[in-house]
Amino acid sequence: MTPLATAVSGPRARLFACFLRLGTQQAGPLRLHTGASLAAKNYYEVLVLGGGSGGITMAARMKRRVGAENVAVVEPSERHFYQPIWTLVGAGAKQLSSSGRPTASVIPSGVEWIKARVIELNPDKNCIHTDNGKEISYKYLIIALGIQLDYEKIKGLPEGFEHPKIGSNYSVKTVEKTWKALQDFKEGNAVFTFPNTPVKCAGAPQKIMYLSEAYFRKTGKRSKANIIFNTSLGAIFGVKKYAAALQEIIQERDLTVNYKQNLIEVRADRQEAVFENLDKPGETQVISYEMLHVTPPMSPPDVLKTSPVADAAGWVDVDKETLQHKKYPNVFGIGDCTNLPTSKTAAAVAAQSGILDRTISLVMKNQTPTKKYDGYTSCPLVTGYNRVILAEFDYNAQPLETFPFDQSKERLSMYLMKADLMPFLYWNMMLRGYWGGPAILRKLFHLGMS
Ligand SMILES: Cc1cc2nc3c(=O)[nH]c(=O)nc-3n(C[C@H](O)[C@H](O)[C@H](O)COP(=O)(O)OP(=O)(O)OC[C@H]3O[C@@H](n4cnc5c(N)ncnc54)[C@H](O)[C@@H]3O)c2cc1C
Repeated sequence: MTPLATAVSGPRARLFACFLRLGTQQAGPLRLHTGASLAAKNYYEVLVLGGGSGGITMAARMKRRVGAENVAVVEPSERHFYQPIWTLVGAGAKQLSSSGRPTASVIPSGVEWIKARVIELNPDKNCIHTDNGKEISYKYLIIALGIQLDYEKIKGLPEGFEHPKIGSNYSVKTVEKTWKALQDFKEGNAVFTFPNTPVKCAGAPQKIMYLSEAYFRKTGKRSKANIIFNTSLGAIFGVKKYAAALQEIIQERDLTVNYKQNLIEVRADRQEAVFENLDKPGETQVISYEMLHVTPPMSPPDVLKTSPVADAAGWVDVDKETLQHKKYPNVFGIGDCTNLPTSKTAAAVAAQSGILDRTISLVMKNQTPTKKYDGYTSCPLVTGYNRVILAEFDYNAQPLETFPFDQSKERLSMYLMKADLMPFLYWNMMLRGYWGGPAILRKLFHLGMS
């Protein structure tokens, strides 16, 4: 797979990117951590479920609170991925290998890695069960199990991915297929989908459309491509300011957006996608494609759906300001698996981690949590190989911008931040428990202006 060489242009931009890229390489001498322990205990003061963005970040913070030997992370996967970069992998601007590191290298040193899958939560007895037959007890539990991808809910998937011309940036198994489909594109419909469920990074399904359009332009195929975004939603984006900017781009670049269209079947052998019209139940439309990018339906992880910590929809039921569980005061939730009413992103996880750290520290001292999460989340809307609109907003879908300029404008600086600075921050600061989001920067910039 050859990455697109022209992702950023200009010597200064390349130098800056090169410098930052140093921080996105595999862990070198700074490598922190050890492998899974063979002699795991069966009780921990803090037990973290899931070793993704939220789980590792909180493990690092809890290590500082209670000592490494009192913290454990339950995580079955050998590799930890920085998923936001998959948008660029699918468009050939980054290599897949740059997105992952061994889980052993991100577990904070001295913290126990229990390499297993959680199969049951029993918060009334302060314990969980794993798929290797262990019962593990805790004093405090942090749930960070992410969101589940349900490709199989679309007829014809996931087996359809064995055919060419179809890809999905949402899974490590299918993200490179997007880039292959893009390169193989000759002539016809390039179709991008958005499902009828909550998703992580709600901007990602359309980012790959803008990147594909840019790729077709670069390679002289634009006039042969009919670009279609079929979304289950009724609007292009949930925040008015950014939706208006995206609408302009959509018009300017001649992209077709069809609302309330939900992908229900892929006939990959015939290169056909079937959509249901959500406004007219029972009405379907078949679209032939030359390229198809699928954003799968998603749901809470199965282990949560039927557990006592879940709300009626299956998400971990937490207080939206403190992240403490509404029923079990020694249980907390962070990230995509929670019912926090904000957009599910790693940027939100960063902001939540600072709040949750503070909440737990007060609960440990029998005090009432005071710090309040405002719903901060961010979505770098990649609109080309060197352009990003940086959407940042809160629970009320009101912009909560960090920088002292209009972030609804496409900018190269924001692309460099997305492609190079954010991975650096993620691996070197967030996962080590030192990045709680840009609130401090925001205050600094805005003080400077007043
Ligand atoms: C294509 C794409 C683009 C994105 N773009 C952006 C972006 O630009 N900006 C941004 O901020 N965010 C982006 N995101 C979203 C971001 O990656 C997630 O919101 C973030 O990783 C959520 O962190 P989490 O800890 O909740 O879940 P995850 O990081 O997904 O971690 C969940 C962990 O739980 C583990 N797990 C699951 N089930 C079990 C079980 N039963 N037992 C034990 N462990 C289990 C999993 O193996 C996983 O390691 C993007 C995501 C994708 C896929």
